[in-house]
Amino acid sequence: MEVPETFEFPFPPYKAQENFMKNLYKALEEKKFGIFESPTGTGKSLALICGAVRWLRDHEARELADAEAAVAQLRSSGGGAAAAGASPDDWLAEQAVDRERRQQLLRAERQLEALQRARARATVKRGPRRPEKSAELARQEDEFRQLFGDVVENDPPDSSGQEEDLIAEFHSDEDSSSDEDPEEEEEEYHGTQIIYTSRTHSQLTQFVGEVRRSPHADHVRLVALASRPQLCINDAVRRLGSVGLVNQACLDMQNKTGSKATKMADGGRAEKKQKSTGACPYKRRVDDMAAEVLSEVRDIEQLVAEGRRRKACPYYASRRAVKHAQLVVVPYNNLLHAGTRQASGLRLTDSVIIVDEAHNLLETIGSIHTCHLSYRQVSEALEQLNHYIETYKKRFSPKNLLYLRQLLHVHKGIIKLVDSTTKTMPPGSEQTKVLLLNDFLCGATIDNLNMRKLLLFADKSRLVQKLRGCWKKRQVTAAPVATGRSAVSQFLREIQQPASDQTQAAAEQPEAPAETRTSDMPLMATLQLISALSDPDRDCRLLISTTRAEPPTIKYLPLNAAAQFTDIVKEARAVVLAGGTMQPVSEFRDQLLVAAGAAPSRVTVFSCGHVVPADQLLTLSLAAGPSGAELLFNYQNRALPATMSELGRVLVSLCTLVPAGVICFLPSYDYAAATIAHLTSTGAMDRIAAKKQVFREPRQANRADAVLSQYSAAARETGRRSTGPSGAILFCVVGGKMSEGINFSDDLGRCVVVVGLPYPNARSPELVEKMNFLDANVKRSEDGRTAGQILYENLCMKAVNQSIGRAIRHKNDYACVVLCDARYSRASTVAGLPEWIRRQMGHHAKFGPAFGQIRQFFKKMQEKFPPS
Ligand code: SF4
Repeated sequence: MEVPETFEFPFPPYKAQENFMKNLYKALEEKKFGIFESPTGTGKSLALICGAVRWLRDHEARELADAEAAVAQLRSSGGGAAAAGASPDDWLAEQAVDRERRQQLLRAERQLEALQRARARATVKRGPRRPEKSAELARQEDEFRQLFGDVVENDPPDSSGQEEDLIAEFHSDEDSSSDEDPEEEEEEYHGTQIIYTSRTHSQLTQFVGEVRRSPHADHVRLVALASRPQLCINDAVRRLGSVGLVNQACLDMQNKTGSKATKMADGGRAEKKQKSTGACPYKRRVDDMAAEVLSEVRDIEQLVAEGRRRKACPYYASRRAVKHAQLVVVPYNNLLHAGTRQASGLRLTDSVIIVDEAHNLLETIGSIHTCHLSYRQVSEALEQLNHYIETYKKRFSPKNLLYLRQLLHVHKGIIKLVDSTTKTMPPGSEQTKVLLLNDFLCGATIDNLNMRKLLLFADKSRLVQKLRGCWKKRQVTAAPVATGRSAVSQFLREIQQPASDQTQAAAEQPEAPAETRTSDMPLMATLQLISALSDPDRDCRLLISTTRAEPPTIKYLPLNAAAQFTDIVKEARAVVLAGGTMQPVSEFRDQLLVAAGAAPSRVTVFSCGHVVPADQLLTLSLAAGPSGAELLFNYQNRALPATMSELGRVLVSLCTLVPAGVICFLPSYDYAAATIAHLTSTGAMDRIAAKKQVFREPRQANRADAVLSQYSAAARETGRRSTGPSGAILFCVVGGKMSEGINFSDDLGRCVVVVGLPYPNARSPELVEKMNFLDANVKRSEDGRTAGQILYENLCMKAVNQSIGRAIRHKNDYACVVLCDARYSRASTVAGLPEWIRRQMGHHAKFGPAFGQIRQFFKKMQEKFPPS
């Protein structure tokens, strides 16, 4: 298909948006892996929607036209073998050719019908709700009250009550049935789907809002997926809060359909109530709700509201709607984690994958697959398992008892390994031992176990929930917990104490009181580790660490993000990684896409300029401060009093020149504290405070909003006071709470100062392992750097780019970006900055000229945008 000259758009698009849409359309049409960079304020979301949905609609129209042409051509070629050129005498050959033609025609007609059905669904006109629809809803509501009025307010089923419910039941190793409702697969057209994903719930909501405002709102079938806690409308279940508890309670309710008949016993209504007592009442009418989901573009909150109105579960309805949707909106986890992706019903084959806010995609893939648990969680899970086995051992089938004992063995093995590893580490020290997967498995003596079978057993028997129920029952019926002397406690004491001390120590050592426990489902955490360990092909390391105050921790660290992206690269038609700042692009190209199997020729890069005119942005790097001292914030120099004092002089000068708000990013919380203390003790902070009100990013996340709103108010006060400071300065930390997702537009961010280059800790065991892995598996870049070195540089530059991106948010905005460090003039560092920053950046070896340039810039801006 030719790239269109114009696109439907809610208003005349900027040139940058038009270019974005054209390049996006071309990338989808040519089945590319696109890296799309579009700075904040350029209307990226709308360009993504209007470019991608336009392509999808053209693609579907072409598929339909092709199918109609194929049917017409097969119908018209009804001359059989003669038409195919076979000899008229050869009757058998004629019959065979004719049969083949009829089969082709049948297939083509079926495909055409499926396409026409899908097209009819897509052209459903959305309008105001019809009155008869409301009447139908009222009738359904009455029926619902009759059937379930006394059920919905009840607590969800809890296995702690019924002994029978607590026995692990698992009948077949081959059992592969899904937790989700089995649904008969009807013959359907599985067309291309666009799967859109972004990092946060609010970004997804914003995206859906943009779709609603786009010209495609009335035509596109969109479904937004989310977790049970977000979509559940059964308040008794929803109140449980955590993902694990809500999932377990919901699945348990599905399992219990019709199991509590005795509660209902009055004539005709008894049978209906019998079915509803155990199962969630909102699971009904999911099909109707699924159709409704697709009839209008809705975000998660709107889906929940619609579910409540219809008394139908939005969670199951949205999942059921997935296969008929054109645009599926999902959180990262639903796409990037294979198990969650399958459970969500996402189809990768021939799909278009759009990953938004993709600047940290490699790190996100890593963290989604990282598993972190504490020694205490393993020991608590062990204790619960042991109690469970001891309580019911006579009632388990031999096979299930075997699985339970194997699980017990896994937990004991991990604890023994951690103990033997950490006993050589000095108490109170922070140390980490890195193990290969095989060394971990052998060290824990669990290398000969079939972990997948154990996981299947735990999953199908709902072991987590049963263990929790059994443990709660014990807590209710047992004497005070601290007096217990379980076999597990005995085991733990035995392996922790020298043999000679065991007897006396055991008598003195109480069990942990219930309130110090990590959660009431520790097995859930340990099963995650077992799941990670069960994949023998993974490139990973196991890290056993001690900390100063806490018990040891165990971390499963995946090293190869590309391996988790391989299925997407292999099956999708096209992949688009979009973000405000996608530099350094080499990371996405070499370490993700190409490493996951993409042909380099299919990778395409598009970077659009900022919508802000060039004269509204001033970027410069500073190698020296006002006194001529070098600005070099490497590890050796940055804590020197002379370096901090020179930074203070830079900030005093900037606060004199810059109107309204200044954001100053420092490389770490510790360095921010040290710098502020130094500036305060030397009096520099007083000079800054005379110009601007001073604010500081708090370490505690719950205080960030309050500081932000105080800073915003102070920054906006600029010029309104006759005396005292005008505007504000906010000291924050690169990679901290203010460096991502916060909008410092207009007066909130007239100047962004980035102090130093925030390189990660090169001695961190995790980083060392990742760098070594990349060095061994990814080829060097053209400039000779190893892939590990590139990762190290990229982590730093991505953090810088995120900080810079806080300012300059729309086309009437203006700001100055000051990069304080002599190293910002290095070519390799400049290459890591976004193109729109790079192309007009000036480097200053002396402060004087920089000061003049900044003064000029703000003078011009005051003229261009006079205060209203
Ligand atoms: S079926 Fe839906 S509404 Fe009912 S408990 Fe499960 S998620 Fe909640």
